[in-house]
Amino acid sequence: MRFWGVRGSIPAPGAKTSRYGGNTPCVEVRCGDELLIFDLGSGARLLGDSHPRPLRASVFLSHYHWDHLQGLPFFSPMFDPRNQFVVYGPTRNGQTVQQILSGQMRQPYFPVSAEAVFRASVDYRPFAEGQQVQVGEAVVRALELNHPGGNLGYRVDYRQHSVVYATDIEHGSESDERLVEFARGTDVLIYDAMYTDDEYFGRVGPPKTGWGHSTWRGAVDAAQRTGAKTLVLFHHEPTRDDEWLDRVTRMVKRHLPGTVAARESLVIQL
Ligand SMILES: [Zn+2]
Ligand SMILES: [Zn+2]
Repeated sequence: MRFWGVRGSIPAPGAKTSRYGGNTPCVEVRCGDELLIFDLGSGARLLGDSHPRPLRASVFLSHYHWDHLQGLPFFSPMFDPRNQFVVYGPTRNGQTVQQILSGQMRQPYFPVSAEAVFRASVDYRPFAEGQQVQVGEAVVRALELNHPGGNLGYRVDYRQHSVVYATDIEHGSESDERLVEFARGTDVLIYDAMYTDDEYFGRVGPPKTGWGHSTWRGAVDAAQRTGAKTLVLFHHEPTRDDEWLDRVTRMVKRHLPGTVAARESLVIQL
């Protein structure tokens, strides 16, 4: 798997974030000949520009907050009729995946509509907790996570390996237990580690409870309870600079040695 965007909420470019990267979520998972893409944050622009054509991929969207979608209008493979996509995502507020996606490319928010400019063949499919889909030899399943407005976590099983993509999750609800079941024994757990405890509980600044994100302690707890071999800290808070992320990673490794902080271009091979 390869990380193209690891930042939460808003892109955070600049000299102080250049090592971990400032793009919002986009993760590529390769299973044999199949390319699976999780979320289309601003990192999707780089992914799209890097892959040769024709491109065929399955895209899994967790939810429709801007940071997970804002790369779509700039995802160059969509403009090329040789490319083929199946786009899976949850139905929300009575709207289909296609309606929701084309809704972000409308006046006055965007100059051209998806219908007017996208040329790739795209098959939009609803996806929900309890369903599973086979992509080549890989099996993908979804779980609703604790996040305002809903959010799907995904698990990919391919041959003897597995990855769980659990971004945008707030720990501390009954859904923690369901995630533990869902992610049990996974090789890699990608988990929202946006806040420190001090930030989360409001010891510095306003409390972040109910904002839909977890802490690095929540991430460690989830990884320990699932037995994940590798914890990937993900959805970094946009104000974190590289040095801060180095420090927190060193601290987390003392609790859980097999931890990495996601950064752009990070490749994990199973
Ligand atoms: Zn997010
Ligand atoms: Zn979100």
